[in-house]
Amino acid sequence: MRKCVRCGAEMDEDFKFTGGFGNVIRRRGLSTKALYPKAAVCFSCGEISIFVEEEDLDKLK
Ligand SMILES: [Zn+2]
Repeated sequence: MRKCVRCGAEMDEDFKFTGGFGNVIRRRGLSTKALYPKAAVCFSCGEISIFVEEEDLDKLK
């Protein structure tokens, strides 16, 4: 579980971006290697964290 960097509370990681290709992060020059970031929300202070799952990071290596 992610902890909020601002207040230390546990964040809700059950969020994702919607809207298609604009939300993809690609390595420059390698169009086949892309990340689909997720989002976590802190319901205590409103902080939003954008992150990538570990298994998705492995795909970039
Ligand atoms: Zn917080």
